[in-house]
Amino acid sequence: MTIPTPEFEALRDRALVCTDCRLSETRTNVVFGVGDFGADLMFIGEAPGKNEDLQGEPFVGAAGQLLDELLAGIGIERGEVYIANVLKCRPPNNRDPRPDEIESCKGYLREQIRMISPRVVVTLGNFATKLLLRTETGITRLRGQRFDWWLGATLVPTFHPAAALRGRPQVREQMEEDFALIRQILDEPPVDHSESDGASDEVLMVEDSQMELFN
Ligand code: SF4
Repeated sequence: MTIPTPEFEALRDRALVCTDCRLSETRTNVVFGVGDFGADLMFIGEAPGKNEDLQGEPFVGAAGQLLDELLAGIGIERGEVYIANVLKCRPPNNRDPRPDEIESCKGYLREQIRMISPRVVVTLGNFATKLLLRTETGITRLRGQRFDWWLGATLVPTFHPAAALRGRPQVREQMEEDFALIRQILDEPPVDHSESDGASDEVLMVEDSQMELFN
């Protein structure tokens, strides 16, 4: 486990008392994120749910257990990765995040990604995937692919674990395929992006305009 930098701890301390949007009025706990600051692999979901809000930790409960199982299937423990959400506070009744809430909160996620600098970023579900890839294409069409992304990371979209719990059995099978792809990417030698001569056929490039989220 890599010790977080003072800069990262200051970011977390700021988030834990944040009142920059209306969600601060209804949350129980700020759910900043959890895991290894030195992680090569980072998961990003939508927003805390009821259990996360109560415990202050992302992906607890049944969805978190499934995430742990999928990780174990590729030989990785939860403590080796970093897990966060786009929004750090729970929207009441799990309603969709609103644009002004995303705008207020996105700086925390941007700085988490910049400081952790993972090799692979996995978006869990439609919301996080559409937001981070700046696309309207749904998760069903995007999953199973890899995208060259911000700061040299590779982004892999997959379903939200809750979708596998309530959906068809095929959803879990497809998530297992996506996790196999994650393992494959992590096993590849790190790419020096400064000397890259372009993406291979299976790698889809994310255009600069799609980085607007973090501008
Ligand atoms: S959701 Fe984000 S911006 Fe809003 S109060 Fe929580 S930490 Fe602050």
